[in-house]
Parts: sequence; structure tokens; C-alpha cells
Amino acid sequence: MNSVYHIIVRRLSTQQNHYKLVIIGSGCGGLACASKFAKKLPKDNIAIIDKTEIHTYQPGWTLVGAGLKTAEEVEKPQTQCIPSNTTWIQSNANQVEPEKNHVQLDNGRKITYDYLIVAAGMQINFNKIKGAIDALDNDPQHVVSIYTRKYVTNVYNALNNLRAGNAIFTFPATTIKCPGAPQKIMYLAEDLFRKNNVRDKITVTYNTSLPVIFGVKKYAAALMEVVKKRNIQLNTRLNLVEVRKDSKEAIFENLDQPGTMKTFKYDLLHIGAPMQPHEFLAKSPLADASGYVDVDKETLQHKKFPNVFAIGDCTNIPTSKTAAAVAGSNDILVRNLSNLMFGNSDKVPKYDGYTSCPLLTSYGKCILAEFIFDGKPLETFPVDQGKERRTAYILKKDIMPSLYWNMLIKGTWNGPATFRKMFHLGMSK
Ligand SMILES: Cc1cc2nc3c(=O)[nH]c(=O)nc-3n(C[C@H](O)[C@H](O)[C@H](O)COP(=O)(O)OP(=O)(O)OC[C@H]3O[C@@H](n4cnc5c(N)ncnc54)[C@H](O)[C@@H]3O)c2cc1C
Repeated sequence: MNSVYHIIVRRLSTQQNHYKLVIIGSGCGGLACASKFAKKLPKDNIAIIDKTEIHTYQPGWTLVGAGLKTAEEVEKPQTQCIPSNTTWIQSNANQVEPEKNHVQLDNGRKITYDYLIVAAGMQINFNKIKGAIDALDNDPQHVVSIYTRKYVTNVYNALNNLRAGNAIFTFPATTIKCPGAPQKIMYLAEDLFRKNNVRDKITVTYNTSLPVIFGVKKYAAALMEVVKKRNIQLNTRLNLVEVRKDSKEAIFENLDQPGTMKTFKYDLLHIGAPMQPHEFLAKSPLADASGYVDVDKETLQHKKFPNVFAIGDCTNIPTSKTAAAVAGSNDILVRNLSNLMFGNSDKVPKYDGYTSCPLLTSYGKCILAEFIFDGKPLETFPVDQGKERRTAYILKKDIMPSLYWNMLIKGTWNGPATFRKMFHLGMSK
């Protein structure tokens, strides 16, 4: 008994509570940066804080919803993903005090740091829609969403079993990650209805809170062609506020006439999940008024706390929140932070807002949207990417997952800039 007591006391007293670099979040941004720093810093210098045991390739959830992959195929145990040279603290952060350089964990433990990278992603909040959770939990044949692990496995069955009626797909009135995903799953569903010979019995509707189908003009024009050609009803400025599962009614607010509601009967409702910043960040001095971490959009360094950087969905960087954006910015963050950490003065390029959205438009076709700040297209391939293409589909379905697992989270994928230069140099010869 006495010796057990001594072992516990020794373990607690030797528990390391200070790290040169602390990273909050072991998703795609956290791991991309951790993997790079693991090659630069000795053992016991880096701690990664995250409770989640399973790492998910979230872009794969659209493929799961379409029956192209299983949920298990797009996830791995975190132990296989976290770089070996780092310490994984399996708790969540629940408070950050950047004036004191410390992070408090949900078990009360305090971790201090010299440098901090925040990469905690964003939070899904179905509670913003009255009745949504009840419907998702208790009527999974008719109300579904690809946006969480809990619900994504219901999507394909619901789509594949629909024989007639109204299929409604929604886009919420909040910032969301991968803003293309709610319509990708709609195009795939519409194609599935054709394959099942029931398309003529189903009305397909896309109700979006946005004033346009997509935020980048070039791709919006291409998608409008798809919508017309495939006879999809598009309604803009409508925000889903309530789901009545017993009467199968979806209530939308007209955002141009606040307080005015419009009711749609549905036989299938796919909910584009409302999202928000994590509360522990929103209430910290790291956040701006929107609740997202306030960083310089070109360097990823915090605007007030120079030893703090942030990447990915948790930031207020004005670009589309995607894994592609993490790919385009992780090297810039790491090089800027390395300059600070090691007193180097390497010239670091500025982040241009690169992001990408492979817009699956059917089983076999995809429009590969790639753009930078202000929605300016910046395409990798020397072809018009505004066209539906089979090659873009193969890239999305088969090549990108492999890039993610084998390169991005291992810290060796900095986006397609090198290929772009290669292709475009080749063209200008
Ligand atoms: C359905 C869907 C489709 C998508 N499609 C695409 C696509 O086609 N292309 C694309 O590029 N992107 C796509 N994305 C977006 C992409 O997955 C995200 O933008 C990307 O994962 C962002 O990386 P991140 O590191 O910022 O956040 P995440 O990868 O979400 O990681 C955040 C991590 O922080 C952890 N965390 C949360 N709270 C705490 C806390 N309090 N303390 C410690 N850790 C915490 C979480 O457990 C998680 O591990 C899609 C996303 C979804 C959901």
C-alpha cells in the first residue's frame, strides 16, 4: 500500500507542466505544425492538448454520406497520428490566459508554455435549430447531416431509401467549415436518385442563407449551370430555424424579411450544421468580437500576443475554412514561429488565403474550386477548373485522403503551390 502511494506521488510530482511549445488541438492544423516542430525541437519540448482519441479526415464525411467510403475508412486512432517526439496530453483546454502563458485543462491541471499554437477547430451547434437534435436522433430515415460522426452514418441509407417526395438540403446562417459540403451531398443525392430511377418522383431543393449559391463568382456561375441542368430548386436567404419531426415540416426564416417564416414539407432533410467558435476561446483574450482567434491573416501570428499563433478553423482569417487552407498556411506559421523561437530572420512568404473546395457534382464529376483572399480564383492545373471533370473527382475521392494522411498531418504537404508553378511555367515555355 505504502509503495503504491509512493509511486503515485512520484508520478504526480514528475508530471511535466511546462513546455517550450504547446499546441491546442490535434486535428489537421495542430498535427501539421506539431509534425514540423517535432523535427526541430528535442523530446519533451512539445505538448499537444486534445481529448479526442480518434483522428478524423473530415472531408471524407461527404464520401461517407454518399456511400463511397465507410466512416471507419476516414478515421484512425490518434496514437497513429501524433508525432512520436511530442507529448500528448489527453485532456481538453478550458481556459487560456495568454498574459500568463498558461492553459488550464478540464481536469484543473495548468500547463505553461513559451509558445502557443491554437488549432482547436470550431464547434458544431445543432441547438441553434429548434427540434433539430430530436429529429436527427429519432428520425434518422428522414433527417440527416454529414457534419458529425454521430449522424454521418445515417446519411447514405436515408438518401438511398428515398423513393418520392421533397428532399431539402440546407446551408446555415453561420460561418461554417467547408461551405461547399452542404451542396456536394445534394448533387450526389440527386445523382443517386437518378441511379435508383426515382428522380422524377423527387423534388430536390437547396435552401441557403447566402444570397448566392457559392461565394466565388467563377464557380457560382458553373454551379448555377449544374443546378439548372439538373432541375434543382434554389432558394436564397432562407435560414432553417426549426424542424418539426412529427409533421415533417422545416421552418425557414426569410433573412431579407426578419421574422417572416416559410414552411416546407420534407421527406428528406439534410441539415448543413450551424457552427460557432469554441466557448473557451471566444471568452479568452485571444478572440476578436466574433469569437475567433485574432491573428494576422498573412503571418498567422496573434495580433496582441506575439508568442501565440493560430491555424485553421479556429482563426478569424477571412478565407474559407478548409483542410486545404491549413495546407496552404501551416508552413508559413511554422517558419514565422521558428524565426521567433530561434532568432532567425528567414524570409517567409505571406499567406495569400489559399483554400480549395472540391465540389463533387455527381458520382464521377467534380468542379475543383481553388481561390485566395477576396474570392480570387488561383487554380493549380492548366485547364479551366470551372468545368465538371472526372480527374477532379478522382483527386477528391482517391488522392486527397492519401495526401492528408501521409503528408499533411505528417508536416510535409504545404499545398499545391509548387505544382502550380511547375504547370504554369511549363505552359509559358
Ligand atoms: C463534412 C465536411 C466536409 C469537409 N470537406 C472538406 C473538403 O472537401 N476539403 C477541405 O479542404 N476541407 C474540408 N472540410 C473542412 C476541414 O475538415 C477542416 O477545415 C479542417 O479539419 C480544419 O482543421 P483544424 O485543425 O482547424 O480543425 P480540426 O481538424 O477540426 O481539429 C480541431 C481539433 O481540436 C480539438 N479540440 C476541440 N476543442 C478542444 C479543446 N477545448 N481542447 C483541446 N483540443 C480541442 C478537436 O478534438 C480536434 O481534434 C470538411 C469538413 C467537414 C465537416
